[in-house]
Amino acid sequence: MIKVGVGGAAGRMGSLVARGVLESEDLNLVGALEAKEHPFIGRDIGEAIGKIPQGIKITSDIVEAFSDSEVIIDFSTPSATLENIRVAADYSKAMVIGTTGFTDKQRNSLMEYGASIPFVLSPNMSIGVNVLFKIVGILTNLLGEEYDVEIVEAHHRLKKDAPSGTAKGLALAIAKAREVDLEQHARYERYGSIGERPMGEIGIQTVRAGDIVGEHTVYFAGGGERIEITHRAHSRENFARGALRAARWIVHKQPGVYTMMDVLGLSNEDR
Ligand code: NAP
Repeated sequence: MIKVGVGGAAGRMGSLVARGVLESEDLNLVGALEAKEHPFIGRDIGEAIGKIPQGIKITSDIVEAFSDSEVIIDFSTPSATLENIRVAADYSKAMVIGTTGFTDKQRNSLMEYGASIPFVLSPNMSIGVNVLFKIVGILTNLLGEEYDVEIVEAHHRLKKDAPSGTAKGLALAIAKAREVDLEQHARYERYGSIGERPMGEIGIQTVRAGDIVGEHTVYFAGGGERIEITHRAHSRENFARGALRAARWIVHKQPGVYTMMDVLGLSNEDR
């Protein structure tokens, strides 16, 4: 049995992850972390997610939540994840990080922990999206720069960061295939007299509405034709399932930063 701690355990994703761990035969839930102010602090995690009591209280004490874990699965906030990984590194725990919305500075700090512990960092844990990451690179190379690329993402109204980490991941895959720096070619907004579209621009647009779980469409538009490729998440369960798969995969790996592409064997990089 692999001992798992969950960060953001009462959140939308964290509670699905906790449920998945409780329902699996090879994973054992040993800790649940939440924000200090969360109303569920002190409650049993099983009860909190509508299952039988597990004898594990939801706590805001990181060490108490994670000291018994072999791997920590974290879907919380960027600042919470940075605190959690500091403790994970102190206690040599593996991590799976689903949190998105890191600033460049936060992301750089996070990456430094790859020298001391193994962790999977992925803005989207779904298998379909990771196959999409692979396919957009191939399409970019096959179609060339004459095909304009636009990414449109849509999420529920409660999502706090924009564009989605997945949209950024798709943009990065396209920039990588074109061998260009994403930030010099990304276009996040258009308004007013914007002039003609420059060659090589990578457009990334955001929709926030209702309870959309997550949709990403990549347009490759040339003269007289276009390809549109869309991924739609029907529920958050596929992200939780991916996170559990990543936890099983990462637990005994060497220190380093891994992605879901590595977990699924879709990466081109040697490890
Ligand atoms: P959510 O429902 O707001 O859950 C986040 C949870 O983390 C909340 O319960 C929040 O508590 C808690 N939290 C905040 N500060 C904390 C701290 N210091 N320590 C411990 N817990 C803390 O959001 P969500 O929809 O589950 O999404 C969480 C993150 O995962 C977001 O960044 C989202 O974009 C990302 N996500 C990633 C994937 C993927 O596949 N990688 C898929 C879906 C979502 P409060 O409510 O009290 O603040």
